Amino acid sequence: MTTTIGKIFDLTVKKYPNKQAIYDVRKNVRYTYKEWSEQVNRLANALLKEGVQKGDRVSTFMFNTEELGTTFFACAKIGAIFNPINFRLTPEEVAYILSDATPKVVLFEKALEPVISSIANRFDKTTFWFIDDEAPTYTASYQEKLAASSSRDVKADVKETDLYAFIYTSGTTGRPKGVMHTHRNMVDQSVFCIASGKLNAEDVGLVTAPMFHCAELHCAFLPRIHVGASNVILHQFNPQSILQLIEQEKISKFFAAPTMWNMLLQEDLSKYDLSSLQLGLYGAAPMAPSLVHALHDNLGISLVQAYGMTEMGPAITFLSETDQLRKAGSAGQAALSHDIRVVRTREDGPSDPDDVVPVGETGEIIVQGPCMMVGYFNREDATTKALYKGWYHSGDIGYLDDEGYLYVNDRVDDMIISGGENIYPREVEDLLHAHPGVLDVAVVGQPDDRWGETVSAFVVKKDPNVSEEELDNHCKNSNQLANYKRPRKYIFCDALPRNASGKIMKFVLRKQLEELFTPGTKNS
Ligand code: ATP
Repeated sequence: MTTTIGKIFDLTVKKYPNKQAIYDVRKNVRYTYKEWSEQVNRLANALLKEGVQKGDRVSTFMFNTEELGTTFFACAKIGAIFNPINFRLTPEEVAYILSDATPKVVLFEKALEPVISSIANRFDKTTFWFIDDEAPTYTASYQEKLAASSSRDVKADVKETDLYAFIYTSGTTGRPKGVMHTHRNMVDQSVFCIASGKLNAEDVGLVTAPMFHCAELHCAFLPRIHVGASNVILHQFNPQSILQLIEQEKISKFFAAPTMWNMLLQEDLSKYDLSSLQLGLYGAAPMAPSLVHALHDNLGISLVQAYGMTEMGPAITFLSETDQLRKAGSAGQAALSHDIRVVRTREDGPSDPDDVVPVGETGEIIVQGPCMMVGYFNREDATTKALYKGWYHSGDIGYLDDEGYLYVNDRVDDMIISGGENIYPREVEDLLHAHPGVLDVAVVGQPDDRWGETVSAFVVKKDPNVSEEELDNHCKNSNQLANYKRPRKYIFCDALPRNASGKIMKFVLRKQLEELFTPGTKNS
């Protein structure tokens, strides 16, 4: 038997036809699995009618919607390659992805129409389908396409080794690259996430993180459908809506990035009945140990962390619920069937997979596993480098402890070198996060004539009275931070620049530092 994403969807529909599959909060629409499957088939047939063939790309450009999920499964069923695009991207960034992926059809929503209208005329081989009412003249209406299309099942020759998606990296390390995954990659990924998240058909999951990002799509949404659980889809992240929905829909599990969990904790939790909540999954960015403790104390739910990257499906390690406090700060142990190594980094090329560093020493994290990407679309050089000698080279620096738990320090590119010493920003960030007056923090290196680089901290205050002096004393008195690691500058700001998946865009902060402190400017 061949296991494809379309196949696992059909099996769930067969098993739980009358169970609620989806509640789309934006439209206030609920579908059972049978009803949703009819929508999926309608879209699959409509795409076929449009001339979309196996291997053709179909892009989505929308916030979290039922239609994004419907497109995901419709593409899977006809063997088209699904390409969800980040809704935060600018017109030029979207145009770059469209020119690289060359989709036949792009489905998009009203709120993002200004982006599409400004670039659509550059893509004469692509048709644009508008999912909301009153489609603009240059687009086709998704609703009309579906209404004119049959809900009968489609039978296409899709194999598990066929490509299922191009998911573009966020581009924090250069131009976005289209990560190619197969059906088999994602079915395996889904199985690991079911096991780690203890998912079952009784679960009611909430979609809060962006569905275009693989953490939500592959680690939460797909696994829930795989087991026949229900999905409540929240259009855009909003802490109060999340808390209300947990109470109203009796949500049992959901995934959120650390920054989202932090925002939830700033709300008055006592106003809501959160008793249905069993487990929270977090990941996609580092979570400070102080935040793990705060979540544990305030929500009283089980927590599971996933660490990974788009290229690996994404999850490659999990920190289980029982290890949360004992191993707070760690990303956990290798996911099922995954092999993780920490190897010496090299200046002149990819690290050698056999040059493994001793336990406790830092180096580049490399990994092998069943969900490893096929490669980057149209980027042979980048693929060869990333998959050097059959190992995915993550570009993350970390170490393994003597129990085999992985600690992720930072990206190679974010490491600060001061006076010849390596400084991992995360160590400084975790310490500052533990100060009660700090809401959010990011540490970056600032070029310095004498030391090469010095440490600067961007801080979002929780307590308006917290001062630079107090934070400096906090670092000094902690006895945890060597003198050269202490921030030499504090920049207080209202918010940190984060991408849609919750990662701090440090390149933006480095640029801000440069602008603030270039010699000759008033701040320098
Ligand atoms: P690129 O920067 O190449 O464009 P990206 O930002 O799109 O990639 P993603 O696949 O979204 O890449 O994120 C992968 C990165 O996110 C990891 O390499 C790691 O740095 C970070 N990350 C993910 N999960 C965790 C976690 N649990 N703890 C710490 N860092 C994490």
